[in-house]
Parts: sequence; structure tokens; C-alpha cells
Amino acid sequence: MKLVTQFLFHCLFIVLVLHSSRPATSQEVDDEREFDYSEKSGKGPSQWGEIHPEWSLCKGGSMQSPIDLLNERVEVVSRLGRLNRNYRPSNATLKNRGHDMKLEWEGGAGYIVINGTQYVLQQSHWHSPSEHTINGRKFDLEMHMFHESSDGKVAVVGILYTIGRPDSLLSSMRHQLSAVAGNREEVTAMGIVDPKNIKIGSRKYYRYIGSLTIPPCTQNVVWTIVRKVRTVTREQVRLLRLAVHDDSETNARPLQPINRRSVHLYRPSEVED
Ligand SMILES: [Zn+2]
Repeated sequence: MKLVTQFLFHCLFIVLVLHSSRPATSQEVDDEREFDYSEKSGKGPSQWGEIHPEWSLCKGGSMQSPIDLLNERVEVVSRLGRLNRNYRPSNATLKNRGHDMKLEWEGGAGYIVINGTQYVLQQSHWHSPSEHTINGRKFDLEMHMFHESSDGKVAVVGILYTIGRPDSLLSSMRHQLSAVAGNREEVTAMGIVDPKNIKIGSRKYYRYIGSLTIPPCTQNVVWTIVRKVRTVTREQVRLLRLAVHDDSETNARPLQPINRRSVHLYRPSEVED
């Protein structure tokens, strides 16, 4: 019995050490009811930068997200290379953050490589309607796959969805999302979730340097927005909204100024394609 207790204590210790050693600054704010998406509440997007000194980039930052991906402004390149995804199945939990639903993988679920840096997939969450727009067009849903390097750099892969056929990841989460929508459970075990099942369907993507789209609006986030717009059902978008229980219709930050940042569109060269 004593051995078991010791073992459990050791496990707890390791968990605490792993947790506290993660860099705090680049993380998105969790369990956050201190901000919302309504401009009438006094804590909406235009006020985020004044709520806490640590959130000041939400107001004063010059590289904020989301932005409009306007074709005339985009430089088409092939040198960025294909998006290198090395995901693996991992145990996940579904969490209500008060403003969105977050699917979090314990200890990460594999990685992507951008410019020689490995970014580990930590979590995915959803915004409706979309935050990024293409030529001014907003879509029904946007998923953000949040990746972090060992030294705290952040890379987010964004996938846009329009109403149509069901999204397979959300279909596989239907039971858990309904459960969260039906009771006020904050965290639900998902079991093993394989991020390889998150379909991209195209090699083309936009790349620019921006920020987190929620406080603390940390900058120098490497954004990858998949060019191909995927589909989701109206019911799936509704279920995600219901599960959040925040009495809000939306959780999309308004567009931010580009401020002469360059936006690239990666397109494979003919030889590669
Ligand atoms: Zn997001």
C-alpha cells in the first residue's frame, strides 16, 4: 500500500513539474470570463487591451490576427514547401473555456515542422463564424490547431468551413459535445483522438505572422491558413455553440489591420504537384 502511495506521489510530482515548466506567456487564456465578444458588455474585443496590462497587445500590437486574406495582396510562392505534418493519436479531453470548446491532447499529439522548428500540437478549438476572411468573405466556422515549440514559439493552423457535408472530426465528437451541451460539465474525456483524421484536402495555404486572436493577443505567431474551404453541417456549428453555454451567438474577433505585413500563398510548383 505504501509503495502505491509513493508511486502516486511521484506521478503527481512529475505532472506538476511538467505543468509548471511550460512557458506561460504564449498560452491562450483558459476558463476566461473576463472577456467576451460583445461590444456592449464593456469587455468586448475593442476593450480587451485595457482589461489587464498583460493584454495590452490586443490594443497596441501591430501584428494582430485575424486579417483578410486578399488575393491582390498575396504573394504566391513555392519555396515555403509542403506543410510537414507528423501527427500521432493521443489521449484527449474536451474542455469548455467559457468562450469556446477546446480539444486538448495530453502531452501533445505529434508535430509540424516550419523553417526547421518543431511545433507540437497541443489543442484545437473552434470559432464561429470564421475569424480570417478570404477576399472579404467570412465563412461559417474556423478551427485553430494550436502548436507550440519547446522554447515557447507558437504556430497555428487554421481551417475554414462552409455549410455542407458533415466534418468527420466533429461527427466523431458528437456524443461528447451533446453531453457538454446538455449538462454543464466543463471537462469530458474523449479517449484517443488521431489528428491525422483532420482533413486538409489541399496543399495550398496562406502564411503570415500574426497573433493569438484571444487575450493575451501574443504576437509572432506563425499562421498557416489552409486555402481549401472544408464543409460542416449547420447542426455541427450549432452544437459547438450550444456546448459553450455563454449565451453568445459568436466568438470571432473582428479583422485587424495588416500594417504592411506580407502574406504568402504557398502553391506547389508543377514538378512537385
Ligand atoms: Zn482561436
